[in-house]
Parts: sequence; structure tokens; C-alpha cells
Amino acid sequence: MNWPTTAKINVAIDGPAGAGKSTVARKVAEMLGYIYVDTGAMYRTVTLKAIREGADLNNSAELARIAERLDVRLVPEPGGQRVLMDGEDVTEPIRSQAVTGAVSRVAAVPAIRELLVRLQREIAASRGVVMDGRDIGTNVLPDAEVKVFMTASVRIRAERRWNEVKDREPSTSIESLAEAIAERDKTDSERDVSPLRQADDAVLLDTSHMSADEAAERIVGMCRRALEV
Ligand code: C5P
Repeated sequence: MNWPTTAKINVAIDGPAGAGKSTVARKVAEMLGYIYVDTGAMYRTVTLKAIREGADLNNSAELARIAERLDVRLVPEPGGQRVLMDGEDVTEPIRSQAVTGAVSRVAAVPAIRELLVRLQREIAASRGVVMDGRDIGTNVLPDAEVKVFMTASVRIRAERRWNEVKDREPSTSIESLAEAIAERDKTDSERDVSPLRQADDAVLLDTSHMSADEAAERIVGMCRRALEV
């Protein structure tokens, strides 16, 4: 059901890896009739390109050059989005372990962030966007009307990830996923440029014991209140 008003707001959802941001953001976008923008997918696409080109992941200048030449597009579709890298559909390959393991290093390169943040702001310029990431409320869309910082314990986030991958990757343990998640949290929180942090005006939502539907309902409630004032 679309929101019965023509006024549109922007919704920023940030938080650490595996907190359920994308599932919840997608639901919120659907409930409001808004566009869902997964900014992590953009950093993942640059990372995939760098891996395919055999780039040195410690060489920021080389990574930045790759990003500059790259055409990243998010194509909204019912229930989500497809990701295009120079026209190629990379929606699945950007979720590989190789990309997940390297993306935080690529996302720490200032020139790459500048490029992608510009793109993200353009997408959100006419409002009606639910955007998820790490720095949306603090940096990309500081004037978003609704800001949420979504968290869950490392153990619960690892269990959720395990449930997603256990059929595809039966040898993966919850412990190894928890370690990888904690490592990515650390890199994302300690980097110099736009580290992962809750915006002062963001609402903290701990989803450890909350379903995705419940979290989405809460956020839609915040949007309703924002639209009423
Ligand atoms: O959201 P997702 O887990 O797919 O993001 C992958 C990585 O991209 C994060 O671990 C982080 O390093 C980076 N990222 C970021 N800023 C964003 C979104 C993602 O630095 N706005």
C-alpha cells in the first residue's frame, strides 16, 4: 500500500553488518511506496571490480582510479534492487565471501567515498528514499527526516548470517561468522573518514529480539509522525 500523501521524506538507516538493515529498509520502502537504496552494494561493486582487475587492495590511488572509471547503477525492482556494474548484473556476485572480506578496506578510501556519496545524494535529491549504510544519517543525508541506528548483538547477527548461508556454505560456523562480523565492525568504526557511528538525532533500534516486520512497523510509525508535523 502506498502512503496516502504526496509529501515525501528521506529515511536514513545505519548500523553494523548483519543488523538486518537491508531486510528492514526494503520492507519500509515497500510500505511507503519509496525507493530502497542499498549503499553497501555500491562499495561492494567497486570491490568486485578491483578484485576482478587484480588490483592491490592496499593501494588507495589504484582503487580510486578503478572507481572513477566504473559505472555503478542501482535499478529498483519490486521487493529490492538489481545492481549493475558497467551494465553487467552483479547483484549476486557482490555478496561473495571474497567481496565481503575486502569491502571495508575499499570503503575506507576517501576518494571512493566522495564519488559514491555524490551519487547517493543525487539519488535522494527528490526525496522518497529509504537509504541504508554506515554514514547516511551522519554524512550522506544529514537532513533526513527519519534516522535510525539499527543494532543487534554480534552473536545474533552471526546466527542470522549463518541461517542465510548454511545451505550454500555448509562448512561455515557461527563462530567464524561472528569473528568476521566483529572484524568488519572494527574496521568500519575506526576508519578516519565517515566512521560507523550513530548520528546524534538518530533513534537507536536494537533488533536482537525483534522481527524484521516489527522493526519495519516501528520505522514506518516514525515516518508517519514525521509526515504529520
Ligand atoms: O551494508 P553492507 O554490509 O553490504 O556494506 C558493505 C561494506 O560497505 C561495509 O562493511 C562498509 O565497509 C561499507 N559501507 C560504507 N558506507 C556505507 C555502506 C557500506 O562504508 N554507507
